[in-house]
Amino acid sequence: MLGAGRLRGLGTRAAPLWPGRAGSRGLGARIRARGVSTSWSPVGAAFNVKPQGRRLDLFGERRGLFGVPELSAPEGFRVAQENALRKADLLVQRVCSMAPGPQTVLIFDELSDSLCRVADLADFVKIAHPEPAFREAAEEACTSIGTAVEKLNTNVELYRSLQKLLADKKLVDSLDPETRRVAELFMFDFEISGIHLDKEKRKRAVDLNVKILDLSNTFLMGTNFPNKIEKHLLPEHIHQNFVVAGNHVIVDGLHAESPDDLVREAAYKIFLHPNAGQLRCLEELLSNRDLLAKLVGYCTYSHRALQGTLAQSPETVMQFLEKLSDKLSERTIRDFEMIRGMKMKLNPQNSELMPWDPPYYSGVIRAERYNIEPSLYCPFFSLGACMEGLNTLFGRLLGITLYAEQPAKGEVWCEGVRKLAVVHESEGLLGYIYCDFFQRAGKPHQDCHFTIRGGRLKEDGDYQLPVVVLMLNLPHPSRNLPTLLTPGMMENLFHEMGHAMHSMLGRTRYQHVTGTRCPTDFAEVPSILMEYFANDHRVVSQFARHYQTGQSLPKNMVSRLCESKKVGAAADMQLQVFYAALDQIYHGKHPLTASTTDILRETQEKFYGLPYVPNTAWQLRFSHLVGYGAKYYSYLMSRAVASMVWKECFRRDPFNRTAGERYRREMLAHGGGKEPMLMVQGMLQKCPSIDDFVSALVSDLDPDFETFLMDSE
Ligand SMILES: [Zn+2]
Repeated sequence: MLGAGRLRGLGTRAAPLWPGRAGSRGLGARIRARGVSTSWSPVGAAFNVKPQGRRLDLFGERRGLFGVPELSAPEGFRVAQENALRKADLLVQRVCSMAPGPQTVLIFDELSDSLCRVADLADFVKIAHPEPAFREAAEEACTSIGTAVEKLNTNVELYRSLQKLLADKKLVDSLDPETRRVAELFMFDFEISGIHLDKEKRKRAVDLNVKILDLSNTFLMGTNFPNKIEKHLLPEHIHQNFVVAGNHVIVDGLHAESPDDLVREAAYKIFLHPNAGQLRCLEELLSNRDLLAKLVGYCTYSHRALQGTLAQSPETVMQFLEKLSDKLSERTIRDFEMIRGMKMKLNPQNSELMPWDPPYYSGVIRAERYNIEPSLYCPFFSLGACMEGLNTLFGRLLGITLYAEQPAKGEVWCEGVRKLAVVHESEGLLGYIYCDFFQRAGKPHQDCHFTIRGGRLKEDGDYQLPVVVLMLNLPHPSRNLPTLLTPGMMENLFHEMGHAMHSMLGRTRYQHVTGTRCPTDFAEVPSILMEYFANDHRVVSQFARHYQTGQSLPKNMVSRLCESKKVGAAADMQLQVFYAALDQIYHGKHPLTASTTDILRETQEKFYGLPYVPNTAWQLRFSHLVGYGAKYYSYLMSRAVASMVWKECFRRDPFNRTAGERYRREMLAHGGGKEPMLMVQGMLQKCPSIDDFVSALVSDLDPDFETFLMDSE
């Protein structure tokens, strides 16, 4: 029912946690910032202007994190977690004693909601809260709810209540598609614990799950572990690029951007030097995953992992990767020739192209051909301008406005976190996005979207509004300077907002499938689609204004940026195809036909093109094998769908309201409650083939004719 490690949600509280507070600041007013000559809309101002002395709210009621009353102090986590567990017990009793029907699914979802609302919130707080006491309390809550979930997953009585429903064909046929899908998803989560097997096999499944979890953690730690080498084995002049400790040089990464060929080569060979323990760990992880999949009834781990996804089967994934590889190969060869040419120009004595070269030399070519120095762009991308851009875009496409609200005392975990109410022109408030955008010590570096609370239809007919956090790592504004984003940061902001809008606009009956809780290969579609908007000059020009002069970003600067991204992009994509194929083979038929290193060499030769370097084992650094096991292809496939949606529906007019409404209705509204291929079909109004997926990805690499015309003007 509730996936290991990733909880899905159950339950409501008597009092509404999020009473709608209408008062958004300065609605409709133009705010004039001190020292800034440009005027911004309210949402732009909220992000560009430093709050002028936070309103001192001495007498206001302290409301607790995310408005959850218990969470005004770390101890509150214990209360919240006890309440959730108590409620879960009642719901288990209720569902086990009633006749099977649609209500069964509703209660399962409520059970999941009551646990997830604490666990998801705690999952976020344990990594993001600046105060250790809060982080520790949250960590404890995660552990205790995790244990409870494990117990529920092996609760035979609970399982039978769902099985009775799914075994009754007449009942199943009477369910609406979303309810049926959610019932099947809960069942799918149960079955990985082997609950449907006899006692002996069930015990075996539980043991395998524990072992896999252990191996996953050990492997993940090993992917980051530095390697060391005796100092005298490396030329002295490159020691300074690494950490030197006593007689050793320590290498903790690939140094892929270093301009010195020798530094990159040394880093590659040392960092990727195989570690026997890590190798054993990976092999054991893969074979245990295979055993578990077979035990619960699948022929490979990949077959299990891909059930219910857009791709649906490992065969489709391999077909997709092979076709993509074929279609890319000529472009990749051209990319490699171009990169080799640059290497020869800069380093004539040693111009053989090696796997540690492409990222660096592509960067050199990009900088030489296109004048895309980030400092030229940043002044046009103040955070406020970008937020205004998003607000305008969502307004025109979907009739949605973002309002900056003043959070209550204790509601946010850190000064500088902004709260956005997402409001539809006729439907009203849809949900809340907390924007934790600025750098601080100890904050994770990755940009990320967190679901804090999923949307769902409650028993009383009200809709539980979704709540999410977007976490970025932007520089702080100062008194005279708003936060300025590089083009890459701007694109990331759009990407993460794509996830947030998926969460806000999902209107699923069940929180188990709210917003981004959908198959992995579909989850990145809404966010990658936003990248297409972020790279379109018609979209960019309506918000990118110089923060001092108000001047718009010239069109050719936008085009130059887009074209620069295509430098080496075929070779890049080819590398991703190689990784995805490797992941498929590792999680395919067992026993594997050769060692993981031999498979890496063969797959690299077939799917990439640059030679395998003896005595290296890149797979031991491939951390995504843990989280994405058999689904690493997802990013490529999501990109293919986003590209098709962009071209078919938005490229002609990126502000087209009809297309926006269709996008909301056919894709976003369903979260994970509908089969992904049906959503894609509904959006594109045709059933795309694998060839369509491949063409969409490859055609994005073609240079844009218009840009060349413009540059020659
Ligand atoms: Zn994403």
